[in-house]
Amino acid sequence: MPDLSPSSPAEAYAALLEGNARFVSGDRLHPNQDADRRSELAPRQHPFAVLFGCSDSRLAAEIIFDRGLGDLFVVRTAGHVAGAEVLGSVEYGVQVLGAPLVVVLGHDSCGAVTAAAETVHGGGTAPAGYLGDVVERVIPSVLAARALGGTGVDEFVDEHIRRSVDGLVGRSALLAAEVAAGRCAVVGLSYRLAGGTVKRVAAHGLPE
Ligand SMILES: [Zn+2]
Repeated sequence: MPDLSPSSPAEAYAALLEGNARFVSGDRLHPNQDADRRSELAPRQHPFAVLFGCSDSRLAAEIIFDRGLGDLFVVRTAGHVAGAEVLGSVEYGVQVLGAPLVVVLGHDSCGAVTAAAETVHGGGTAPAGYLGDVVERVIPSVLAARALGGTGVDEFVDEHIRRSVDGLVGRSALLAAEVAAGRCAVVGLSYRLAGGTVKRVAAHGLPE
């Protein structure tokens, strides 16, 4: 199996897109999933991307990007809402593990974004419990998307991805410094559940 081991932001991004294309076409290689890879990695890891995405069960990172062990440092929360633990985990992946790319991965028909939209539309309060905390963190993205003329959940999703990308770079001085130095890029991808494809909706430090 080829080990692409991308080391620059652009190479890491290209490797993810290539893996996603294999997943979409059905020609998956299942790289880095064998016993040799497992043994090789045991003493250390050097993932080429931090993937921060929604927890949705249909968004399994290594499957939809056709990657294997040691490739992706994965952080997922419902609606990819980012609290302190998420920011710390992303910083760990970038600074300590040396990943040259951070991906924010959202998707169409997202339940967390739908719940936030319903809360906004109903003029009501967020759900009880910690679920409400997730919804409240998505509401600003729904309001921003509506202010830009958006009306549907998938438009809210893309705005939420953009704001999540900006939020990571804006809140983490460490990440912002890595991006400014050209050592890391942050890209926001919107995933289509039915087709398995991704669409780029935002980026810092990555050429078009
Ligand atoms: Zn979701």
